[in-house]
Amino acid sequence: MDTLPCKGCRGLCCGPVPITEKDLMKIRRRIKRMPVKHRSNLENQTRYFGTCIFYDLDNDKCGIHDARPEICKMFGYYEKLVCFRKPELATKPLPARLEDSIGILSVDFTWDYFK
Ligand code: SF4
Ligand code: SF4
Repeated sequence: MDTLPCKGCRGLCCGPVPITEKDLMKIRRRIKRMPVKHRSNLENQTRYFGTCIFYDLDNDKCGIHDARPEICKMFGYYEKLVCFRKPELATKPLPARLEDSIGILSVDFTWDYFK
């Protein structure tokens, strides 16, 4: 499958995203498993206002990649979730029903919540 050219974007599209209950559970488990040093480094990076709290600027990637929310996995590949750098990849039809969101990551759920 053709992939998005994310390297070098430095979190350009990683802002606040809606998350589901399942997403939240996964993220909480992921944060608990994270080595303290790594977690502290991720938490204390200086980000632009609006950049996702889990964006790892030092390594130019999502800091919780294997536990990222479903909407992040879909971005760039589904209709209406278009990446401007490769819009032709956004072809999959959105599921008829998406799970309900329980809040917005980086707004309703910040680092304080995950401590
Ligand atoms: S989805 Fe698009 S804008 Fe976002 S990081 Fe990847 S290439 Fe960059
Ligand atoms: S969870 Fe990861 S992929 Fe999703 S917006 Fe945050 S940094 Fe980006």
